[in-house]
Amino acid sequence: MKISRIINCPTCEKELEWSDKNYFRPFCSQRCKLIDFGEWATEQKKIAGEFIGSLEDDEKDTTQ
Ligand SMILES: [Zn+2]
Repeated sequence: MKISRIINCPTCEKELEWSDKNYFRPFCSQRCKLIDFGEWATEQKKIAGEFIGSLEDDEKDTTQ
């Protein structure tokens, strides 16, 4: 009995079968994989910027 798992692409939420033939799983395509990676990289930069910003705020609070 062959069990097929259906997953959703994290980028476009399209349903796809989790199998060896889906080379870009959990993404439905290389495009979605690259889009997700790009968003992740952007998110990391944004978080880093906010983290630095909050550190500056803390310094201001301690000097006041
Ligand atoms: Zn997709």
